[in-house]
Amino acid sequence: MNVHLLGYTGSVQHEDSGNVSMVVTHDRTAILIDVSGAPVMELNKAGIELRDLTMVLITHAHIDHIYALPSLLHQLWLTGRSESLVVLGNRFTIQKARELCDVFMLEQKKRMFQIVREVLEEGVYPGTLGSLRLSVFPVPHGVPAIGCAFEADYRKFVYFADCTSNFTYPAIAYDAHLLIHEAGGLTSDEPALAEKGHSSARQAALAAQTLHAGSLVLCHLPERFSCYPEMIAEAKAVFEHTQLPELYKPYEV
Ligand SMILES: [Zn+2]
Ligand SMILES: [Zn+2]
Repeated sequence: MNVHLLGYTGSVQHEDSGNVSMVVTHDRTAILIDVSGAPVMELNKAGIELRDLTMVLITHAHIDHIYALPSLLHQLWLTGRSESLVVLGNRFTIQKARELCDVFMLEQKKRMFQIVREVLEEGVYPGTLGSLRLSVFPVPHGVPAIGCAFEADYRKFVYFADCTSNFTYPAIAYDAHLLIHEAGGLTSDEPALAEKGHSSARQAALAAQTLHAGSLVLCHLPERFSCYPEMIAEAKAVFEHTQLPELYKPYEV
């Protein structure tokens, strides 16, 4: 299983990256997690074939995680997709995804492929994703949000989308070989981050330590580059195997 980051900023993009988004691949199955920036361009940069895209999983309905969904669907239609595509999220998110697509009347386009909206609040995804097993779990944030865990070949990848860090972790989140966790700032920012439903780099590292993760990659980073060295230092003081994000390259899980 590979994970490619397609963007790593929080709500404000900068010259090096768009909003956080990533794709999980295994065999000929690709699952896009959140859809922002220029999704087709980003998938191309990561070397992902559009025809392998099986599912779009949307963690929550904040703008930076969902706004490019109509653009992605439109481009898949323009490039001749005929296979159905699953759009997965919790009930609140899927409703917003529907409203967003309705604005552009996407499903009334001639020979539009089937968009299969599926709601999953918690638990194992019951559909087929090749030999990948996907589980989702709720995480505390300003709107209903989910984290996710992918398992294949006895390996595990866990993603904590936008969330605060002080909650009871689900069993599925433990013992990941790779954990990607949001990190919106420094220890000194923690009260302000918590108020907005976010975590610091130090808190992401504490989560990695508690969850016995193999390695941690931070994402959803603030727009000010200048605090990245301090963020990584604060995180590494708690959990040594922490890295800043790198776009497009495969993280082998
Ligand atoms: Zn966000
Ligand atoms: Zn959010």
